[in-house]
Amino acid sequence: MKRSLIVAVLFFLFSNTSKAQTQNGWYYCAKCTNLYFGASGGVCAAGGQHFHEPTAGSYTLSYGTSECKGQADWFWCKKCSCLFFGLANAKCVTGGKHATDSKSKDSYILCYTKNGAVIDSSHQSEWYFCNKCSCLFFGQIKGLCASGGNHYFTSETSGNYVLAHF
Ligand SMILES: [Zn+2]
Ligand SMILES: [Zn+2]
Ligand SMILES: [Zn+2]
Repeated sequence: MKRSLIVAVLFFLFSNTSKAQTQNGWYYCAKCTNLYFGASGGVCAAGGQHFHEPTAGSYTLSYGTSECKGQADWFWCKKCSCLFFGLANAKCVTGGKHATDSKSKDSYILCYTKNGAVIDSSHQSEWYFCNKCSCLFFGQIKGLCASGGNHYFTSETSGNYVLAHF
């Protein structure tokens, strides 16, 4: 085997086993403060579709494997486009429960500060799980919740999640 081919094979194996799978295109909704996937505008608890400022950066989520010792079982809701936890009871703004795409095999994995997630210029903390609607939202401003009123969490019901941001 030629040396260059061996190097190529080693690189392929290394890059496959060490790198998390990631997906870009997640945004912070300036109306309801949820994280949502931008391929469609979804449905917003504040009315109409989710909205992000054109100058706001996007977020990257990991799935399958993760760069941290994180928490799995986060899913994209195909009805409202938010990121929600678990497949059980969460209330969706479109009515009924959140529902994920049956084609997606892996859940998303979120890092959180308790498990040592790094916070730096490209990793933003203070994302929280709302235990009323089960969506991930940005905690400095508690936006409108699909269950009525504002999103809600306590330190017992949610980690302090950290998202990759650029
Ligand atoms: Zn929204
Ligand atoms: Zn939903
Ligand atoms: Zn909520």
